[in-house]
Amino acid sequence: MPTTGEKPGKGKYKCKKCGKVITLDNDSDQLPPCPVCQHTEWDKIQ
Ligand SMILES: [Zn+2]
Repeated sequence: MPTTGEKPGKGKYKCKKCGKVITLDNDSDQLPPCPVCQHTEWDKIQ
């Protein structure tokens, strides 16, 4: 699964813990920690 610090490519990612959705706009963007709960594991949303 995508985790904080990786560059998994642009798209939408959902926090596995709280469900917060973030968007990466560029393939060079790193996944941040969740801004709500600081969790570091994400699910890619198709
Ligand atoms: Zn979260």
